[in-house]
Amino acid sequence: MVPDLLERLRQTGAVLDGHFALSSGLHSPGYVQCARLLQFPSDAEVCGAALAGLFRTGQPEAVLSPALGGIVIGHEVARALGVRALFAERQNGVLTLRRGFELVRGERVLVVEDVVTTGGSTRETIAVARNAGASVVGAGAIIDRSDGRNGLDVPFRALTTMALVTHRPEDCPLCASGLPVIKPGSRVKPA
Ligand code: ZN
Repeated sequence: MVPDLLERLRQTGAVLDGHFALSSGLHSPGYVQCARLLQFPSDAEVCGAALAGLFRTGQPEAVLSPALGGIVIGHEVARALGVRALFAERQNGVLTLRRGFELVRGERVLVVEDVVTTGGSTRETIAVARNAGASVVGAGAIIDRSDGRNGLDVPFRALTTMALVTHRPEDCPLCASGLPVIKPGSRVKPA
């Protein structure tokens, strides 16, 4: 585990408190953008090593992450495990292995994400690996916001869990209090 992870997430602005409009249209008192933590290579390295330690017994032979959010942490997990780091990216809306990335039939793959909320992109990434003939040994994330409702059928572990509080704009107590709502520039989890 990473002892100061929550503190670092706040220090780097990866976790913010306030009043945010999510891409889903819901409002939330919290905002998570892991890229703000992962811009610091030493933090990325520490998180990668910690996640790798949770999955070493599964003997992964490659790490597969969804672009873009999973690439940096996937790379660091792969570095710690001493295996390849691949990523899947969207082509016409569908996650796909491009750039000549290949998985060998039966290869043991660990799927790594930055944040799991609905589990949608993680499930999609697992499907990419299985469609390539690989065997998915687990899924890991820095932050689990799924509250157990991620629908994953592989062992899933995260470095920390964080509740996801959302309100419909019409019922939002933050709106009622008159606090201005912030719409973050990039897509915010949950998708
Ligand atoms: Zn609101």
